[in-house]
Amino acid sequence: MTVHPAQLPASFGGEIIAPTHPGYDQARQIWKGLDRRPALIARCADVSDVQRIIEHAASEDIPLAVTGAGHDIAARSMPDGALVASTLALDGIEIDPVQRLARVQAGVRWGSVVAAAARHGLATTGASVATVGVAGFALHGGLGWLMRSFGTACDNIQALDVVTADGQLRTVNARSNPDLFWAMRGAGANFGAVTSLTLRLYPVNRVVAGVKLYPAAKARDVLDVYRRITAGAGDELVTHFYYNGNPDGTHSVGIGLCFNGPSATAATALAPLESLGPPTHDSVREMGIDELQAVHDASTPLGARYHLRAHYLSEFSDAAADAILAHCRSISAPFTQVFVEHLGGAVGRIPKDATAFRGRHGRFSFLVINGWKSPAEDSERVAWTRAFGEAVAPHATEGAYVNYLDYDEDHRIPEAYGAGYSKLRSLKRRYDPTNMFRFNRNVAPEADDETR
Ligand SMILES: Cc1cc2nc3c(=O)[nH]c(=O)nc-3n(C[C@H](O)[C@H](O)[C@H](O)COP(=O)(O)OP(=O)(O)OC[C@H]3O[C@@H](n4cnc5c(N)ncnc54)[C@H](O)[C@@H]3O)c2cc1C
Repeated sequence: MTVHPAQLPASFGGEIIAPTHPGYDQARQIWKGLDRRPALIARCADVSDVQRIIEHAASEDIPLAVTGAGHDIAARSMPDGALVASTLALDGIEIDPVQRLARVQAGVRWGSVVAAAARHGLATTGASVATVGVAGFALHGGLGWLMRSFGTACDNIQALDVVTADGQLRTVNARSNPDLFWAMRGAGANFGAVTSLTLRLYPVNRVVAGVKLYPAAKARDVLDVYRRITAGAGDELVTHFYYNGNPDGTHSVGIGLCFNGPSATAATALAPLESLGPPTHDSVREMGIDELQAVHDASTPLGARYHLRAHYLSEFSDAAADAILAHCRSISAPFTQVFVEHLGGAVGRIPKDATAFRGRHGRFSFLVINGWKSPAEDSERVAWTRAFGEAVAPHATEGAYVNYLDYDEDHRIPEAYGAGYSKLRSLKRRYDPTNMFRFNRNVAPEADDETR
């Protein structure tokens, strides 16, 4: 299907970026270096533009995708041939330091929210990379440095403004459209185009945070220390284990951490690190939470080729550690990171049916991001990533984190939503019966014969 700029409603006030537009190549760029060619990118200038585009797509039966910062792991937000509604120009942030709330428009990236909130000594759970979009991250979970203190990002959504498939702008919170409020905190992209999110903030001044790296030969020791630290960690401490394949062909291992408690007590929590000897790189110090935001920024550059696999682990057993390290040693791509993130704390205390996001039972999240440059290497690199995921799967617990699912893992979507999946399908039938919002980790509307 072709979509011509002249076909868009005259009342659309934003920028229309067609393939002939000089800004087309820049506007269609996403984190994954894929050559996506949408029919038209409609950069919405305000909420009414979002409504106009949705009404138009519905009346003309045009495939419509919604994109923000374009960091989708499955690269679904920039499909070939579709009309793409971009929220990037909706970039307003209002911080209410008294109510401790951030009202954030849908095109905002995490780095801007963290900086704006930090000016008031406030913060919330956000992405570890500044360029990730607030909407995609928070609508589907949101694991970050402060999650053991404050829960996931979706747990901190207080309200949403969303344009649903019928073109209506709806306020969604615990009192208004509570069914959508449940569904959109975990499966948000399925139910409409969000125009703004209101997020709860917390007083956070200084944290002890950063990364310590060690030679890859110490991988097993670092992993064992990581397991000791996480076994005794309070909610104030979030740690990552890393195994990195670097652009120069070397490997390194490390621990990333954020201690959101009294700095005098950080040393006790981190004491097991001393047994590892001097690190090759050490950025751990007291810092503002906005400085920590930069720690991962350079590790997975925009525009490289990537393939991912992820699992939740209920424990970090010796067998799981052996399986992970065996594959880490065979990393040969230049931008490859293996993460194990420590979950639990506030994430696990929220009742599992409180939101559509279900990843509350795992104690750890395992993730491999395999990154390379040349398309000629695609099949070999993808096969390696899949094999890594299969090797870890026997040690995993049930469930899947939708934000970490790659394009070839749609079969895991029901597992990701667990017992909430059928409720999501029934709500999808009510709010988006034609599956207009389908360029995502899609929950198909319940079919007619399933309602009897
Ligand atoms: C470099 C990098 C670092 C990351 N770090 C973390 C991390 O620390 N923790 C973590 O949990 N995840 C992390 N992620 C995963 C990230 O949370 C998801 O990829 C997220 O969906 C990206 O959101 P986005 O808005 O940038 O992407 P987009 O590609 O713009 O959108 C992602 C999805 O959300 C939908 N969407 C976007 N905007 C809207 C809207 N306004 N209304 C409705 N639907 C919308 C899109 O249609 C698409 O389905 C990271 C990803 C990358 C690439």
